[in-house]
Amino acid sequence: LELPLRDDLDLLLEELRLLLANIDVEVVAVSTQKKDRPDPAFLLGAGKVDELKILAHASEADLIVCNDLLTPIQLSNMRRKTDCEVWDRALVIMKIFERRAATAEAKLQVDLARCRYEMPHIRGLGKQMSNAGAGIGTRGPGETEFERHRRKLQARIVEASRKLEEMKKRRQGQRKQRRRSGIPTVALVGYTNSGKTTLLKRLSGDKKLYAADQLFATLDTAVRSVRLPSGKNILMADTVGFIRELPPELIAAFRTTLEEACQADMLLVVLDANDPDLTATYDVIQQTLDEIGAAALPRAVVLNKVDRSGLFRVDRIKAQLRRDGLPVCALSALTGEGVENLWGVFDWLAVRRS
Ligand code: GDP
Repeated sequence: LELPLRDDLDLLLEELRLLLANIDVEVVAVSTQKKDRPDPAFLLGAGKVDELKILAHASEADLIVCNDLLTPIQLSNMRRKTDCEVWDRALVIMKIFERRAATAEAKLQVDLARCRYEMPHIRGLGKQMSNAGAGIGTRGPGETEFERHRRKLQARIVEASRKLEEMKKRRQGQRKQRRRSGIPTVALVGYTNSGKTTLLKRLSGDKKLYAADQLFATLDTAVRSVRLPSGKNILMADTVGFIRELPPELIAAFRTTLEEACQADMLLVVLDANDPDLTATYDVIQQTLDEIGAAALPRAVVLNKVDRSGLFRVDRIKAQLRRDGLPVCALSALTGEGVENLWGVFDWLAVRRS
C-alpha cells in the first residue's frame, strides 16, 4: 500500500502509551534521544540517563519505560543510576499478557514467554555476581544462588513446553472434528485493537466475548458460530492480535495460538481504516501469515471503523487493496454499517467448500 507514512517514532510512542494505558500506567513525561550507536552500559548516553533521573523526580514518576529493548546489564544499570523502576518494551508487553491471559493455555504460554525472557537476565546477573564475587578459583555464594535459579527456570520451561504440546494435540483433535462437520471456518486476523472481537460479537450475536478499548483483549482463540442470511452456518475464530516489535520470546510463545489461523478455510484480515500506517500494519500481518504457513489461504480484507474515517480515505484504501487482488469490505463492526457486505464473501466460501 502506498499510503502516507507518519513518523515511525511518533507511531511507536503512541502505541507504547496505549500499551501502558492497558496496565493503568499513566505517562507524565516523554523524552527521546537520537543516537547513532547505543551505549552498551545504558543504551542511552550517560548524560541522558542523568536527565531522566531529574525528569522522573520532577514529575514524581515511579517508573521509567524505555521503548527499545534493554539488555539485562543495561536494565540493572539504568535502575541503579536513576533510583527508579525501569522497564523496557518487552516487560511492558509481558505485564499486559500476564494480566490478560484468561485460559489455561494462554496462561501457560505467558509463563513460558516470561521464563524465556528471564533466562538471559539471570545469565547476565550470574556474570555480574561472579565478576564482583570472591577471589580467583572460588565459587561465590551468589553463583550458587544463580545456578539454582537457572535450573528452576529451565525446569519450568521444559514443563510448560510439554504441557503446551499436549494442549496443541488436543486442539488439533478438536479441529479435525470441526473439519469433519463440514462447516467452513473463517479466522479473524489482524492488529490488536483493530476490532476483531467487536466484529465477531456483531456477527455471532454472542455477547460473552470480551472486547474493550485495550490491546490484547483476546489472548486466546475463541470460536463462535455465525448464521448467514442464506440459512447456512460458518464458524468464526478470533485470533491473538499482531503487534509491532513483539519481543522474540513472545513470538515463539504465541505461535500455537496464531497457528489456529492456518487451520481455517479462509482468513479475514481486519484493518483499522484510521491506522495512520496501514502499509506497515498490513506488511506485519502478511509476513506473519507467511511465517505460520497461512499465505496460501483465501483471504479478504475488512476495513473496519469506517464510522470514524473519511469516505475519501476509505475509497482510496479500498481501491489500493483491490488492485492487489484482495476482496475488500468496508464496514463498522461497532455500528453495523456495511456488515452485510460480508455475507457475499461468506456465501462464496460456503459454496466453494460444499
Ligand atoms: P481487537 O483487539 O481486534 O479484538 O479489538 P476490539 O474488538 O477489542 O476493539 C478495540 C476497540 O475498538 C474497542 O474499544 C471497540 O469498541 C472499538 N471498535 C471496534 N470496532 C469499531 C468500529 O467499527 N468503529 C469504532 N469507532 N470503534 C470500533
